[in-house]
Amino acid sequence: MTRFIFLFRKFRPRFPFWGWAIVGIIAFTLIFVEPGQSYDGESQRISSAAGVLVNKEVHTHCDNELVAAGMADIPGRDMWIYGAYCDYLEDDLYEPEVEGAALITVAHEARHLRGYYNEAKVECWALQQTDDLARIMGYSDEQIPELVMWARWDHRKLVWAVPEYGNPQCHQDRAWDLTPRDGVWP
Ligand SMILES: [Zn+2]
Repeated sequence: MTRFIFLFRKFRPRFPFWGWAIVGIIAFTLIFVEPGQSYDGESQRISSAAGVLVNKEVHTHCDNELVAAGMADIPGRDMWIYGAYCDYLEDDLYEPEVEGAALITVAHEARHLRGYYNEAKVECWALQQTDDLARIMGYSDEQIPELVMWARWDHRKLVWAVPEYGNPQCHQDRAWDLTPRDGVWP
């Protein structure tokens, strides 16, 4: 009996009521308060695909607070992609319109990282490489035409809204055609 009381008395001051209250608050927070979204998997996947596309190490930051579709630290390694775009870049074509826009955005920002500042030129190359990026990211040959169509649509909307992203040289067989005279565009 003495021994039991001794243990009990020893235990009490180490774990008083407020100790349990804190445990309860932590448990409540973990269970009911939604943790901040982590984009670790998505950003790694995008970084490695974009890195293959432009042959350079790329660090992607998926950011929900970004006011643009994408941003690049030229001529560094870091680029920022709108969080929802990172979310939808899965090879399921759940939202092909968003996925097409996300692909051309990633290709555009990654191309900037090679040291190019000219928006129209970078955008023109991205337009022509959306299919390459889609292939690197694991989209199938059946899915790619639809994605390219939506990427083109996103490109047109951008040029309508901000004319400096367009240029007459961004045209089949003109200066910025990456594969001139092959009959393929974009
Ligand atoms: Zn740009």
